[in-house]
Amino acid sequence: MTDELLARHRAVMPSWMSLLYEEPIEIVHAHDRRMTDSQGRTYLDFFAGVLTNSMGYDVAEIGDAVRKQLDTGILHTSTLYLIRSQVELAERIAKLSNIPDAKVFFTNSGSEANDTALMLATQFRRSNQVLAMRNSYHGRSFGTVAITGNRGWSASALSPVKVNYVHGGYRYRSPFRDMSDADYIKACVADLVDVLDTATAGDVACLIAEPIQGVGGFSFPPDGLFRAMKEVLDSYGVLFISDEVQTGWGRTGEHFWGIEAHGVTPDMMTFAKGLGNGLAVGGVVARGDVLDCFQAQSFSTFGGNPVSMAGATAVLDYIKDYDLQANCAARGRQLLDGLRAASSPIVAEVRGKGLMIGVELIKPGTTEPFVAAAARMLEETKKRGLLIGKGGLHGNVLRLGPPMTLTAEEAQEGLDILVDSLAATHAALA
Ligand code: PLP
Repeated sequence: MTDELLARHRAVMPSWMSLLYEEPIEIVHAHDRRMTDSQGRTYLDFFAGVLTNSMGYDVAEIGDAVRKQLDTGILHTSTLYLIRSQVELAERIAKLSNIPDAKVFFTNSGSEANDTALMLATQFRRSNQVLAMRNSYHGRSFGTVAITGNRGWSASALSPVKVNYVHGGYRYRSPFRDMSDADYIKACVADLVDVLDTATAGDVACLIAEPIQGVGGFSFPPDGLFRAMKEVLDSYGVLFISDEVQTGWGRTGEHFWGIEAHGVTPDMMTFAKGLGNGLAVGGVVARGDVLDCFQAQSFSTFGGNPVSMAGATAVLDYIKDYDLQANCAARGRQLLDGLRAASSPIVAEVRGKGLMIGVELIKPGTTEPFVAAAARMLEETKKRGLLIGKGGLHGNVLRLGPPMTLTAEEAQEGLDILVDSLAATHAALA
């Protein structure tokens, strides 16, 4: 059955739509943190639909809130009319953002949120010059695919903006890897100044950055880098956009937004993924003067629709009521400690914050990306009943991003599978 569906998928859907696994799976049922495929196999989910089903599956409170909205008969009324839940959610997000005089615009996805942020920054600064981080990923719209700094996912030749890339996000594969944190920050800031002064026309609109690079392999700089960078950006009048599509809503454990680890407040933040727990919702929260600068009329037909708003409101309540940020910190520590203790010759680095954990795989005794090992790890973990992700510039980084509701027992179950699978992969390939 799956083979037939796969053939039909390939016939009718684009070749660049990536599917995981040698035999891609079709999920037919999900509950809590477990998913069942069409062959009746059940898996523990350590990727949450790319950090999207952050509360897990079949969550009563969220389902009830969405059903209640559906029962009003209103799926959509257009943003031409007042939508109470939209205003109330915007108020909450504006307050949570800590951005002074913040305003919010809702979209349907992270790409659209980042596209909006880029449009606002370029309009505000009257410049189409943008800075992004090397190894970044910001989406698949025309603007965001153009600024993405990861060859596998970008197409910058088609760029509607002029983009330059700066160091900072991916320390393991940078020329500054072996420096101390303080020296690393100094080197990245010097690189930023150099790019601003020499590679741009001098009137840059913004720098966009993920506090933890998602698609890029859950890599991140030492805390404080973005504060140091923001000081430079402020002196050049350049806006700073924090892409919180993966790092928002407490997932990093220590803070509600990933950027807070750097002790700095951005001019704009973009969000999506986890807020909807599977519903299509994203948005931009920004300084009021920046969000208001757009000079044309504009709206989003589906952005901020009442069904997504009901779900997103229930998600925010759920995160708060169950203190999921604290759970992310505790479960993240458990996974990091367990993986680090397991040490394998094919693992160069286990890094992470909260429930965003990256495992950089290398050929033993080298720093060479072990791409085949990452692919094999996906198969070995799947065989043992665990779904994980992979990514990174070379596709050699395992990505663990379970639902934020993960229990201690489930974390241990996943850990045991990961450790067994690392041993099996090493034995088979190294
Ligand atoms: N920004 C980041 C950091 C992402 O990880 C993603 C998606 O993976 C996006 C933006 C794009 O979001 P979407 O796929 O909802 O358009």
